[in-house]
Amino acid sequence: MTIHIKGAKIMAMDASHGSDCFDGDILIEDQRIVAMGAALPEAEADIVIDGHDKLVTPGFVNGHIHTPEALFRGRYENLPLEMWMTLAYFLVGDGQLAPRALYLRSMLVAMDALRNGVTFLADDILEPPLQSMETLGCIFQAYDDVGIRANVSGHVIDRPIADTIPFFPEILPDDLLAQINAGKPPTVEEYVAFAEEAFSLYHGRADGRLRFMVAPSGPQRCTVELMQAADELARANKTAFHTHIVESKIQAVAGHEFYGKTLVQYMHDLGLLNRGTTIAHGVWTTDEDIALLGAAKCSVVHNSLSNMKLHSGVAPIRRMIDAGVNVAIGTDGVSTSDTPRMFDAMRTAAYMHGVTTGDNEAWLSSHEVIHAATMGGAYSALLEDDIGSLEVGKKADLVIMDLRNANFVPLNDPRKHIVYCENGSSVETVIVDGEIVLRDGLLTKIDEEAMLDEFRELMPEIMAKHEPQEEQNKAFLPYLQEVYERCAAVDLGIHRYGGNDMPSWP
Ligand SMILES: [Zn+2]
Repeated sequence: MTIHIKGAKIMAMDASHGSDCFDGDILIEDQRIVAMGAALPEAEADIVIDGHDKLVTPGFVNGHIHTPEALFRGRYENLPLEMWMTLAYFLVGDGQLAPRALYLRSMLVAMDALRNGVTFLADDILEPPLQSMETLGCIFQAYDDVGIRANVSGHVIDRPIADTIPFFPEILPDDLLAQINAGKPPTVEEYVAFAEEAFSLYHGRADGRLRFMVAPSGPQRCTVELMQAADELARANKTAFHTHIVESKIQAVAGHEFYGKTLVQYMHDLGLLNRGTTIAHGVWTTDEDIALLGAAKCSVVHNSLSNMKLHSGVAPIRRMIDAGVNVAIGTDGVSTSDTPRMFDAMRTAAYMHGVTTGDNEAWLSSHEVIHAATMGGAYSALLEDDIGSLEVGKKADLVIMDLRNANFVPLNDPRKHIVYCENGSSVETVIVDGEIVLRDGLLTKIDEEAMLDEFRELMPEIMAKHEPQEEQNKAFLPYLQEVYERCAAVDLGIHRYGGNDMPSWP
């Protein structure tokens, strides 16, 4: 299959052009871009797309998302991370869905992502109480069918949950503590066997479009042995090592309480910071942490929407960029941000740093934001040789936007329109792996309406199971509130909240 895009405005995000646009053609053959430039010679392409009044960009890379939260878009608010998790993922109980519901859950997010120009998801799948090969397979099947590119994880926690939150075991009444401790986390051997089977079954599926990544939840939630085993698996299979570090102040306090050091320092001391390490959030990193991350060429995924909604704080992104940390952008789970759409995440990433510093040179530019949402994400996913920019030889993952849309009229600086004006409504065509997956606003590989109808029909049954367990888990909230307030009062020598009113409890 060959596709010739003729006479478009191109934002390539490659090393020589960056986000500066130029006019030209793109020729795609099978999965890859084979030629780019001004007025390519007329080729016998299978499909010719008129690029007049169109802007072509690389597909946007959602560097961190949890699609299982699709069930809970628009459901929660005003809860800090640990309290929100208790309701969305449960400390006790079993939220596991039937295979078809799992398939539709991730399909729903992937459809929304593609429709809005997101061609890649780093999808970290937490499936409590335990992920199985079958449940993981449902996610891969959805992405295989809809045509999106993805790294999909098996998210794993192998420490008793109560022990992963500082002060929690001593605050919890015995009966609630016993309920949490009734669950049995996987052993390191079980996790390694699971991951190895996942690599053999799913890694490289759909001609390499889909990959398995390792995702130990975080250094306060996993044993040293599990973190090291995950690192070995990632290196052996050349895949991303994806984890969460100091998303919330509670997690930052956990480092000092559990290990007597910051969690980044702890990872460094264990030899777990390297080129393949991606850290979601990094909100409560210190300057010393940031230097370690930069020296090790790690990636940090900035999740501005989630960090605001859960009151996690503002990540020191400018200091990370200055220290050589690769910065990507993600939405985080679609209940903590309520969206997989990168236009939403890019806009808030550009805005939020202005509220914590008056130093306007430290704010992010639209170029930096788009770079993080394309090449930064590609580097984090270990896919920078294939995606993230439009270049000859790279995979053809791209978005075609209509410049006659109100979001681009009048046209000033396209990169500022993308970050500050665009809301997805100009996205006309999306190509992934050389295949048109969205054309004239319609997904080409699946029946979107049928998927939405089927999912809506399943929801009453799903919520009938979820709601009583959500109610049961609310018993933990007052104790987590106490943990939250206690950790807020700990002086860590850094402040990541937007205001100066923490801690302030009535
Ligand atoms: Zn996350």
